[in-house]
Amino acid sequence: MKTNRKKYMKQYRANPVNKEKHNISSKKWAAKNIEKVSLYRKKWQEKNKGKYKEYYREYHKEWYQKNKEHYQEKAREYAKENREKMYEYRKKYGQDRRLKCIEHYGGKCACCGETEIDFLAIDHINGGGNEHRRKVGDVHGWLVKNNFPEGFQVLCHNCNLAKAFYGVCPHQRNK
Ligand SMILES: [Zn+2]
Ligand SMILES: [Zn+2]
Repeated sequence: MKTNRKKYMKQYRANPVNKEKHNISSKKWAAKNIEKVSLYRKKWQEKNKGKYKEYYREYHKEWYQKNKEHYQEKAREYAKENREKMYEYRKKYGQDRRLKCIEHYGGKCACCGETEIDFLAIDHINGGGNEHRRKVGDVHGWLVKNNFPEGFQVLCHNCNLAKAFYGVCPHQRNK
């Protein structure tokens, strides 16, 4: 019964006149049932979207597995190159900021007058340097960004350490 009907429909559609008739009637039906059609279409798209997504996921997975080593190597190379570049950049830029700060706060040790730049550092006059450093990370960058606020001075490492250790640098005690 079923096969007969199938056969009949096939023959029926094969006739161009019938085909045209069928097209017109289904077009008419679609025009009358626009909501039904768009709902059906939406459903079909949703159903198949998942299918394609799945398909592409599988495809990418396979592709990635095949090219994994190549890409991991590329990523490693890129990271290494950029790490070196970033390091150079930070060093240069960090030095620039450090010099800027030291220059702004007098360019010499406020205690003993040391001018050798490599001996100099920024000192928090009222202490709290460690806490501040923890909070802002890069103190030199912070000073530049905040337009060199008050409360900071330049000290050489000697005087800085002595101040931290004894509360006051021996240079000042002996004055
Ligand atoms: Zn000093
Ligand atoms: Zn000193």
